[in-house]
Amino acid sequence: MSVIAAIATPLAPAGLGVVRLSGDDAIAVAAAVFRAADGSALDTLPGYTARYGHVFDADGDIDDAVALVFRAPHSYTGENVVELSCHGGAYLLRRVLRACLSAGARMAEAGEFTRRAFLNGKMDLSGAEAVMDLIGAEGRLAAKTALAAREGALFRRLDAIKQELLGVSAQIAAFIDYPDDDVPPLPADELRQTLDAAAASLQALSDTADAGLILRRGVDTVIVGKPNVGKSTLMNLLSGADRSIVTDIPGTTRDVVEDSVLLGDVRLRLSDTAGLHETDDPIERLGVDRARARLAQAALVLAVFDAAAPFDDDDRQLLAAVSDRPVVVIVNKSDLSDAIPVEILNSSLPTVVLSAKTGEGQAALTEAVAAVTGVAALSGDEPLLANERQTDGVRRALLAVLAARDALDAGLAEDAVAVGVDEALDALLSLTGERVSDAVVAEVFRRFCVGK
Ligand code: GDP
Repeated sequence: MSVIAAIATPLAPAGLGVVRLSGDDAIAVAAAVFRAADGSALDTLPGYTARYGHVFDADGDIDDAVALVFRAPHSYTGENVVELSCHGGAYLLRRVLRACLSAGARMAEAGEFTRRAFLNGKMDLSGAEAVMDLIGAEGRLAAKTALAAREGALFRRLDAIKQELLGVSAQIAAFIDYPDDDVPPLPADELRQTLDAAAASLQALSDTADAGLILRRGVDTVIVGKPNVGKSTLMNLLSGADRSIVTDIPGTTRDVVEDSVLLGDVRLRLSDTAGLHETDDPIERLGVDRARARLAQAALVLAVFDAAAPFDDDDRQLLAAVSDRPVVVIVNKSDLSDAIPVEILNSSLPTVVLSAKTGEGQAALTEAVAAVTGVAALSGDEPLLANERQTDGVRRALLAVLAARDALDAGLAEDAVAVGVDEALDALLSLTGERVSDAVVAEVFRRFCVGK
């Protein structure tokens, strides 16, 4: 493969910056731009060896640097790789990159290093997709699940299902191809069991999809409550800064403030719905279209009530409006009163008693949010679906397995069962990238950044 080169670190002033090369002749290209201080030739070095020296171009020395040599197949891409660690900064790194291009490398495309890793069998397609999640991961749990996927957790789960289905497929094929020979009758019960087990595994994977997406992308959250219950104060507590205006005068928060905070392992994409209390007409107040639409769209609602004020009709209306939503009820101002209104107790919605002012109860809120979003049920070790492609693939496999089982139950010809099983196998092979169109592979890596 031709040698590709890219700046692998951000183009910002930094202590270190890395230019990465990969390809058959990567070490020769690096040797043309790097001179080791001890005089050793890079092309004679074994893998996992580093040398201190200088990177240079036609104009002279660019920077001092460390060259790290990896030999195929023991590298990220599975090819020969050299990483040139210089000082960070756009000018230096661009000049080092240009020197590499002059020496025979070409610019790497977005995701091309990881794409080569996939093509060289260093990781399956679901693992490659997890690389992006790993880079973007913000919380401990998100990073842990991304690492597990990168190391093949999803692949292994899919592979186990695939092996079972391949067994079924082979049994049916033998039955169809040699009807006159001594092939025993199709063991329908055994096949049904295998299909049921495969369906259960696929269903379990599919069930994690929502929580997995929340873990990776965050959850659209809306804070609701009547004026003065402490919504802005709560926003400020969560974002750790005075982002929205807090006052004693009801209804002063005019704009919808968009903000995003990390609460435990979950990123909340917050909007402060000032629209909800722009009007003092109690009917209109909850009838505001925009507020209603937001409630309906939000994947998580934080409904705030004031423990220090009487529970009134507005509160009652709000509680009813959110009761069928994924909601955490917040009884705020616990520093003034810790009484939970009986209406809230009776609603049996997940409830947290909190003081947005002092921060007391924030840990309980973190836990409640994790529980409501399903993130609490994730351990970080089990495979999670990372994106639409994976979710769609698993659902397609599940539907096909169920169709195969229905065909079996209905006593249809073996071919009908085989069609479902083959369709499921096709979906699974596409997920892992073992049988996948170039277009799909291109689409997966298109979303990567250059240098990864
Ligand atoms: P909003 O209209 O719902 O956004 O309410 P604000 O956040 O503007 O709060 C209204 C008033 O309640 C302000 O004076 C806040 O300082 C006060 N407040 C908010 N949360 C608490 C709390 O937990 N304890 C106490 N004692 N006061 C609070």
